[in-house]
This record gives sequence, structure tokens and C-alpha cells, in this order.
Amino acid sequence: MKNSNLPDNAIEISDLTKIYKNNKEEDLIALNSINLEIPRGSMFGLLGPNGAGKSTFINILAGLTLKTSGKAVVWGFDLDKNPRSVRASLGVVPQEIYVDPFFSPKETLHQQAGMYGVLPKDRNVDFLLETLDLEDKSDAYTRTLSGGMKRRLLVAKSMVHRPPILILDEPTAGVDIELRQQLWAYIRKLNEHGTTIILTTHYLEEAEALCDNIAIVNHGEIIRCAPTKEILSDADSKNITLVLSKEYSDKSTIEKIGGVVDKDGNISISYNPKQETSRDILKKSEDAGLEVSDFSVTGASLETVFLSMTSKK
Ligand code: ADP
Repeated sequence: MKNSNLPDNAIEISDLTKIYKNNKEEDLIALNSINLEIPRGSMFGLLGPNGAGKSTFINILAGLTLKTSGKAVVWGFDLDKNPRSVRASLGVVPQEIYVDPFFSPKETLHQQAGMYGVLPKDRNVDFLLETLDLEDKSDAYTRTLSGGMKRRLLVAKSMVHRPPILILDEPTAGVDIELRQQLWAYIRKLNEHGTTIILTTHYLEEAEALCDNIAIVNHGEIIRCAPTKEILSDADSKNITLVLSKEYSDKSTIEKIGGVVDKDGNISISYNPKQETSRDILKKSEDAGLEVSDFSVTGASLETVFLSMTSKK
């Protein structure tokens, strides 16, 4: 492929702001002057808790939500000046699964291609059915497909106009572990074929497993944007999880020892093993009044990094 005319960045965002005006309540700043560059060919993760502003960001790019101010350039096209070209450059896979139950996957894809004005001879329907492992089902009623297949069909549907950028909003929300791994494999395959992938997720392991670069979003701001490896090394390698014999609700004590409460209600503390040992941490915790019944030590996970970053806000 000739690359000289392709943009270095699939997406360039400057000072992007979205304020939702609510009549009764205060205005809500969903995106607060965001700056972001997403390199062409990357697998980019927007990671953040619910309400961080991820969907707002995607909806602005997809033309579903109007930005308040700032600039978005997609595949070299300015969203303000050239919204149609922006739209043609993007495939967006929505969170909700909706596929027409009466059409087969093949018909669904041809119909979608028609809507984008792709001529029959230029359609890549067979390639997509093969890549997303739907060949066997290409002529079946869509209502007979499993949940995982329907989701793959949605990915295929978003790709019929051959967009160079694919955006997936929470691609595996509600998908079980095995299907999640499968879907990841398909997304990787599309990336290997040259598609830039952007996904939002609040599954930390998903960002860790898939993305080469990650932006951590919280309260409408990007609090960190770096290669995944770099973000993982932020924690300087070790994490200790404390199981308490008594539930402990005093947040300030937990914060004082550098801990955060994880999803299971245990205390998670990241530390630099060159400076402290797990014994030091245990002693510090007990000195602070925590009754530790069990603990485990692991290498840093994105979850720890993420929790310690967002809890500071
Ligand atoms: P995420 O996708 O990260 O969960 P969203 O972009 O959906 O976050 O939401 C960001 C913030 O904007 C939240 O506080 C949400 O309540 C608010 N919000 C989202 N959509 C609207 C809307 N249409 N009107 C008003 N507020 C909204």
C-alpha cells in the first residue's frame, strides 16, 4: 500500500470540550478541553470509569453529539469542514446489540453497504464474513445467531464501507470471558489488516490485553496518555492486596498508607520494591490500625495504576 498520502495520526483532537446544558441543574462538563493524538495503525484504548466522558467523545466523532468547542481531525478531515469525509473514515460499533432478525448476515452487510453507496463490485462482504468467522452462518436468519456472533456481525457491519478507523464502544460489555477472548482475536486481526482501532472500556484487562497505547479518562479529562507498557511500569512493579478481618471505612487511613479499595473490598497498595518490602507495608498498615487477615503480592496491574490515579481526583 502506498503510505505517503496517509496521515500520521488517525485522529487529532485539540481543546475538545463538551458541555451538556441542563435547564434545571448546573451545566455538566463532560469533556474538558481534551487534547489527543491517535497514531495511524494503533490499537488505542480510552479507559475510564462510567461517566468519565468516553461515549461523549465517540459520539462527537461519529456525528451523533455536537461538540461545544475545540477541533477534531479524523483521517486528515476537519469535523467542522468535512463531516461527510469524517463519517466515511469511521466505522462505529455501538454498545447495544441490534441486528435485524429477519435478514441473514450476508443480506445485512449488503444492505449496509448499499446505504453507504458502496457498489456491489467493491463490497468486501465475503472478506468480512470470513475474517469474523461468520461464513457458516452467512445465509442463516440473524435471529438464530448466538450473542457473540451478533456482536461480530455488528463489527462486520461497521466495516462494510472499508473505513480506515474502527471505533468500538465497550466491545465486550456483557460478553463472557471465552467470547471476549475470541472477539479480541478478531479485533486484532482487523488491526493486522491495517485498521486503526479505538476502543473504550472500563475493563482494565481488556485495555491491557489489546491496546498498544492508552488514554486514561476521568471526569472529562485525560489524566494520562502513554504506551501501555509505560503505564504499567508507572507502578514500579509491585502490588500488595490486603484482606482485612474487619471492614474498614475510614478512607483517610487507607489513603495515608497509599492504598485504594479494590472491587472486592480489599485494600490494594502499589509500592516500589527497591524502596520497601511487603513486610514494611504490612507493618505500616497494622500500625495505622488495620487488621490484616491475609495478603497477596503481585506484579503491577493496570488496575492498580488506574485506581491510584483516579482516586487522587
Ligand atoms: P462514559 O461513556 O465514560 O460512561 P459519558 O460520555 O456517557 O461517559 O458521560 C459523561 C458525562 O456526561 C456523565 O456525567 C453523563 O451523565 C453526562 N451525559 C452524557 N450524555 C448526556 C446527555 N445527553 N445530557 C446530559 N448529560 C449527559
